[in-house]
Amino acid sequence: MKRIDTIAGLRASLDAARAEGRSVGFVPTMGYLHEGHVSLMRAARRDTDVVVSSVFVNPLQFAANEDLDDYPRDLERDSELATAAGVDVLFVPSTTEMYPDDHPIATTVTVTGASEGFEGASRPSHFAGVATVVAKLFSIVGPCAAYFGEKDFQQLSVVRRMVADLSMPVEVVGCETVREPDGLAMSSRNAYLTEAQRAAAPVVSRALRTAADAIRAGETDPSAVRRVMADIVAADTGPETDSELDYADVVDAVSFATPDPLAGDLRLLIAVRFASTRLIDNVGVTAPVAPTRGS
Ligand code: AMP
Repeated sequence: MKRIDTIAGLRASLDAARAEGRSVGFVPTMGYLHEGHVSLMRAARRDTDVVVSSVFVNPLQFAANEDLDDYPRDLERDSELATAAGVDVLFVPSTTEMYPDDHPIATTVTVTGASEGFEGASRPSHFAGVATVVAKLFSIVGPCAAYFGEKDFQQLSVVRRMVADLSMPVEVVGCETVREPDGLAMSSRNAYLTEAQRAAAPVVSRALRTAADAIRAGETDPSAVRRVMADIVAADTGPETDSELDYADVVDAVSFATPDPLAGDLRLLIAVRFASTRLIDNVGVTAPVAPTRGS
């Protein structure tokens, strides 16, 4: 695996590969890699000829009160994991390489609609920061297939929308969430959890699974579905976990609006705060087709 730190170096390397007719697969990350990231790298390895992954903790997507400085970093281990997953090029730009005039930058990308609500409501400048850095990375990497996790389902929707609206030469590939054996979605931020919080954290995915089961069993009232999730989180997190439900909701998987009664392809979304660590998760579920009257 080759490590490249400059925009010009990465461009030259990937342009040369494409000139030889080789396809490029791209996996953007903020590093501190785990099996979730590795699954994206393996999917890119399966589908494309040259796999590039980036490790860049993007200051634009962190608010002033968030964990930019504390975000976990381990580039040596990341390099080993990326090599083992079949990554050909690891792109590790410095902040000054990406933002030479220091951030904030004058040009930003805002995706309306998909960025609003949920993570967008809890973290107001977050998706503009994500869309801007992803647009910048796509511009650096060039035509490619880009792999994103469903773990960050709203982010995936924002990126898909940006690529469609701006006719970017990128095929966006969504990949399933990778979980710990107890159901907790893998996340670099799980490293922040105390022992008690880590023990309680599977409640997040348990709430989603129970709500999905209720929908499959015929529940069509969105309030009842929200209540199922909120009740489980309240019941299964003690005061020692310092936890609080941020949101638990059910939305249409494409529009992010809540159909009432629930119908079609739905996404259950949840965010729970454990002290200053916010864990997010989601699952898809299709509402059963209601039997037609008289049949
Ligand atoms: P991050 O490093 O957190 O910015 O994540 C980089 C990419 O990995 C994003 O596309 C995430 O959605 C994806 N990702 C993070 N956690 C998981 C997971 N548990 N399963 C699948 N993909 C993930």
